[in-house]
Amino acid sequence: MPDVISDETVVIFHYHLKNEAGDTLDKSGDSPMPYLHGAQNIVPGLEKEMTGKKAGDSFSAVVPPEEGYGPRHEGGIQQVPREAFPADVEIEPGMPFMLQTEQGQMVTIWIVDVADDQIKFDTNHPLAGETLHFDVEIVELRDATDEELEHGHPHGLDGTAAH
Ligand code: ZN
Repeated sequence: MPDVISDETVVIFHYHLKNEAGDTLDKSGDSPMPYLHGAQNIVPGLEKEMTGKKAGDSFSAVVPPEEGYGPRHEGGIQQVPREAFPADVEIEPGMPFMLQTEQGQMVTIWIVDVADDQIKFDTNHPLAGETLHFDVEIVELRDATDEELEHGHPHGLDGTAAH
């Protein structure tokens, strides 16, 4: 069992994420969340703050966009006909999608709005440009399993969850 958070530690934690105005953007539920430290499972600014912390620690962290979900780029919002997406896929606002550009690059987009025959999307992450205010409580630390290290993410709270 690791004493402090370093690479290859699975960290089980509660978090409450607010924006600059104090509105809740996201939070863990009844059950805490696991992530694999050093594997970019969480935004870089929070991962940095986590390094060296112990089970039982609580802290607040303010993460600027550059160390969060990135700055917001102008011109990210685009509109395409519904036919541009597979017909059998249900599309809802807030959903992320992987798209291939004409140059063959894979990019992630986020659905903003779905009208009758048009889909509006944004190439910016919904939290791009936001300064992130985290309240964190570290619940438990454990060593990652070999399989988790290979995959680069935790397999549930105890490392045995299937996916
Ligand atoms: Zn896996």
